[in-house]
Amino acid sequence: MLDPDRIEALRNQPQAPASHVIGGELRPASDGTVLEVISPIDGSLLTTVPKGTREDAEAAIAAARRAFDEGGWPEMAPAARKKILLKWADLIEANALELAVLGVRDNGTEIGMALKAEPMSAVATIRYYAEAIDKIGGEIAPTAPGNLGLVHKEPAGVVGAIVPWNFPLMIGAWKLGPALAAGCTVVLKPAETASLTLLRIAELALEAGLPAGVLNVVTGEGAVVGDAIARSMEVDVLVFTGSGATGRRLLEASAQSNMKRVYLELGGKSPNIVFADAPDLDEAVKVSANGIFRNSGQVCVAGSRLLVERSLHDAFVEKLSAFTETMKVGDPLDPAVSAGAVNSLRQLEQNLAFVEEARAQGRTIVTGGTRILQETGGYYMAPTIVTDVKPDDRIAREEVFGPVLAVLPFDTEDEAVAIANGTDYGLAAAVWTGNLSRAHRMIRRIRAGVVHVNTYGGSDLTVPLGGVKQSGNGHDKSLHAFEKYLDLKTAWIKL
Ligand code: NAD
Repeated sequence: MLDPDRIEALRNQPQAPASHVIGGELRPASDGTVLEVISPIDGSLLTTVPKGTREDAEAAIAAARRAFDEGGWPEMAPAARKKILLKWADLIEANALELAVLGVRDNGTEIGMALKAEPMSAVATIRYYAEAIDKIGGEIAPTAPGNLGLVHKEPAGVVGAIVPWNFPLMIGAWKLGPALAAGCTVVLKPAETASLTLLRIAELALEAGLPAGVLNVVTGEGAVVGDAIARSMEVDVLVFTGSGATGRRLLEASAQSNMKRVYLELGGKSPNIVFADAPDLDEAVKVSANGIFRNSGQVCVAGSRLLVERSLHDAFVEKLSAFTETMKVGDPLDPAVSAGAVNSLRQLEQNLAFVEEARAQGRTIVTGGTRILQETGGYYMAPTIVTDVKPDDRIAREEVFGPVLAVLPFDTEDEAVAIANGTDYGLAAAVWTGNLSRAHRMIRRIRAGVVHVNTYGGSDLTVPLGGVKQSGNGHDKSLHAFEKYLDLKTAWIKL
């Protein structure tokens, strides 16, 4: 599918100014203003998207409300919703390479990863929830004779979905798939720097026969469009992936409006723990490097803290650094690159500031630490490994969200657990060991939503993804995701 000629043809395709998708129509911002879309590949102007106003958000919410209350989507037989969603997935698949290249031009992820993780992942997700929705039902409660207790599962209403820029289609589909299959209607707000593919799949949804107003996409600034969704009295459920700072604001907005349920998928500072008895060190090196440096570290579950047992530390760091230096960073539309561009200049500057702070504290920059390929006009950073890091350093506690790995040694299992659990986050973790008992002990002791053993980052749709502590609440993926979009209603009948 990664035909280089086709990719080259798509690379230069002009992009018309994009529009919101509201109530089944393509619309500009109510005041005609736009946001410039700058490609991180070379810093060029790719196109514009509407700079949404509060009125735009309110129009989209009103369209979603009408589609839910009067449009028939929630009342439709689940099998009928399934048919439309499957057609939508087919259309996304038919346009997968176009969507992948458009997404790469917009957000900078390397094309090999983007194709799999973006359109094709969205296709799989939409199919998974479409296929599931006519196979789950309510319950008959085990009451005493003389009564009948029925537990209905009803679509929860209008869903507000606010998503980030690192994997807009994958994360968007994790919300849209279960929400739409469940019979909810949605107002989705993409991130300022990655809106184009979500707008495009919303157009494809209309083509697939999704009724007007069931899916609305409004672009613009978080503090305007996102805030209007979060404060709306007409939105029943708010689902979010992004930073903790924004998550906190959304909880406040909910409390100050209609107390809508808020589900947060936030950041991480995930520990990747290598014991000296790891079964395959070369595999651990390769997977650990990919686990932090692919997509330039802009992955919520990235293994951004490497904890290595002291007896192995120096040898492991040496191998890791050698492997990392073989990773090709550059033009994300070149299928041979391992890591593409950093999403924005702001993010790149933030990444470099973390490294400079570590350098000033006397930490060792083993490799990387600099901006590269500046002559392209794009935003690229060399994969960076920092050693001599102390558990209290900012680089060991805060999410960089870039290609920066903090390495810390440990002596005992207890110390590894203490360091691993010593941040505000609890999203992902990994343990490399050949000792089965130790692996199970570590799975129990590490506070995280997922613990990998002898691998990093593997998963599929059958398992939930979500965090503990300040990494969030609620889960995307798996059948558990339906719990956010289906309300329980009891019917109690005297027989
Ligand atoms: P962000 O919080 O700045 O933005 C996320 C979204 O929220 C964007 O659409 C943005 O426009 C919107 N937003 C910003 N301010 C808002 C406000 N005041 N009200 C309403 N909406 C607002 O995060 P980001 O920089 O786009 O994304 C990176 C973060 O996302 C990282 O912290 C990363 O770890 C996290 N992330 C988490 C997961 C997960 O599954 N846990 C997945 C991917 C990314």
